Amino acid sequence: MSHPFRWVPANGRRHASRHPTTGGGYPSGLAVTTLCGLDVRARTGDLPWLWPTCADCNLEARRIVGAVIRFPGPDPPAPNPGSYGSRSERHD
Ligand SMILES: [Zn+2]
Repeated sequence: MSHPFRWVPANGRRHASRHPTTGGGYPSGLAVTTLCGLDVRARTGDLPWLWPTCADCNLEARRIVGAVIRFPGPDPPAPNPGSYGSRSERHD
């Protein structure tokens, strides 16, 4: 694995961390700092790997590997003219 981070299940989420590892992942209970800035303790086992991926770590991990992938979501807010200039012409 050439990426400078590893996925680490902790606190009910799959986070990613740049904490150095000897290979094979983080041992359970190891204190690591995640890409999203949390200080957590790594978990191991099958179930933790099924936890939902931390969105912040996912974004940061993708940024690290250079894969800029747009997430599905609401469109950026469009400029809102509001009621400005909405007065209609009147013909009396
Ligand atoms: Zn995270």
